[in-house]
This record gives sequence, C-alpha cells and structure tokens, in this order.
Amino acid sequence: MHVLGSDTCFFAFGPELKPAISVEKESIVQIETKDCFSNQITSEKQLVTEIDFSKVNPATGPIYVKGVKRGDALEVRILDIKISDRGIIVVVPGAGVLGDLVKEPKTKVCEIKDGFITYNGLKIKCKPMIGVIGVASDEEVPCGTPGRHGENLDTKVIAKGATVYFPVFRDGALFGLGDLHAVMGDGEVCVASCEVSGEVTVKLDVVEGKAPQWPVVETDEAFYILVSDEDVSRAFREATEIAVKVLQQSNSLSWEDAYMLASMVVDVEVSQLVNPKKTVRVRIPKEYTSILKLLEAIKWERK
Ligand code: CA
Ligand code: ZN
Repeated sequence: MHVLGSDTCFFAFGPELKPAISVEKESIVQIETKDCFSNQITSEKQLVTEIDFSKVNPATGPIYVKGVKRGDALEVRILDIKISDRGIIVVVPGAGVLGDLVKEPKTKVCEIKDGFITYNGLKIKCKPMIGVIGVASDEEVPCGTPGRHGENLDTKVIAKGATVYFPVFRDGALFGLGDLHAVMGDGEVCVASCEVSGEVTVKLDVVEGKAPQWPVVETDEAFYILVSDEDVSRAFREATEIAVKVLQQSNSLSWEDAYMLASMVVDVEVSQLVNPKKTVRVRIPKEYTSILKLLEAIKWERK
C-alpha cells in the first residue's frame, strides 16, 4: 500500500500538474487530506473571511497511475474514509442558496465522537463523504469548480463502498481528492458542510478506452451520472437526456419507450447548488443497465 501525506496538495486540476507519486494499476493508496480551509480555521473566533483564500479546497495528490491513457476511464474504489474528531461549518454573506439573507460571517466548531457530530445540543449521525475528487483537466480549473473531470462535486453518494469513474484527459490521470465532510445534505445549501480533515483509502484501476462524458458513481444498488453546469436547469436537462440514452441503448428500446421508462425508474437528484457550477445527478437502478453498457452509452467521443 502507498501512503500520501496531506502536505502533498494542489489547488487546481490543470494540464500542467506534476505527479506527487506514481503507482501501478490496481494499487491501494491511503490519502491523508486537509479540510477545505487547509486547516486554517481552529476556533469559532476565526471567520472564513479572514483566511488565505488561495488555500481553499486543497486536493491531496496528484497521483499518476502508470499505463492509464487519455480516453480511458479511471476507476476509483473508495475502500474507507476516516474523519477527524472536529468539524468546521461556516456561513458567509453572499454565499449559498440564501446568501443575500446572511448578515455576517459565522464559524461553528463541532466535536465529532463515536460517529456523531455535536451541534447546538443536537446529535447528528456522521455519513462521511468526499467533496473534491477528480483528475487533471485539459484546462486550468480551480478545485472549487466541478466539471467533467470531477473536482468539487460535493455529492454525498461519493462515500465508502462506492466506485467512481472519471474520464482520463492526461496520461496517468493525475488523480487527487480532498474536502471531506462528516455529513452533508443534498444541495449543501449554506455553502459549507461539516468540513473535516481525514484519510481516504482508494483502489485505483482503469477501464480501457471507456472515458465517460461525465463522472459516474456506482453503489450497491445504482449508477449515478453527475452533470455540472452554471445553470442548474441546463444540468437537469442534460442529465435526463443522458439517462434516457443509457436506458435506450442498454435495453434496446425506442427513444420514446426509454423516455417513459426513465419517468418510472430514474431519480433526478441534486448534489450541490452552491459551487461556481451546480451539480445534479441521475440515479439509474442496476436492473436497467450495467457499468460497461452505461460507459459505452455515454462514451466521450474524442476529437
Ligand atoms: Ca466542497
Ligand atoms: Zn467542503
């Protein structure tokens, strides 16, 4: 097993990333992560407006996976997520779904113990997940902005036991992750969640020549396709169109019949509404497709 410390981090998933470590396919890597503020906030007296904003949303990495090429799908199996015993949550005027109603910044520090967060006397059950996860893009994209290559997807199904597939743009994929949350609701409405540092163990592998147009998450019961766009309505439309295409090709249906099937079995869900691009996902139960059929249906056509 390889171990990567959180000091090996970066802040933009650009084409010029230099690998921090090179590993073989099927390697298991234990990745230590800082929280989304680079651990700069340690008390409730510190406001998010006072920290160094060039250091938000660090991803640990990048990890070069040998033999993985542009046009492949990088397969990331999340074997385990361990989180710190303290979480930070903030509000900032102008940020989040109701940013115009926030009068001043505020910081909360929460204790995390035995799988529960203590918050204003309430006990909230932890459901650890990964906020930032992705591969190098063809363009320089700051870690705050999600896209086809992943990054700040803030999607709660990216959790222990899930497998995530990314399109590979640069040879070696140059994979990284960070921004763990102890728990998060769909939407991440106030712009932050229970932000924690921690440690993620992944197994990295490849599906050759099957780069998808958008990141795909596989869980025990379903596949999710994650679409990000500045305009959330456009994201919903594209995600729906893709789901219908997957159902049509996987089950040899006419487009109209696949559209009706989608209406019966596909869930259109929100991942986050607060990043520069919003992320939505379509959930397709496993009865109606397989990972290979799905990746084939949404294959990224190389120009
Ligand atoms: Ca995030
Ligand atoms: Zn976060």
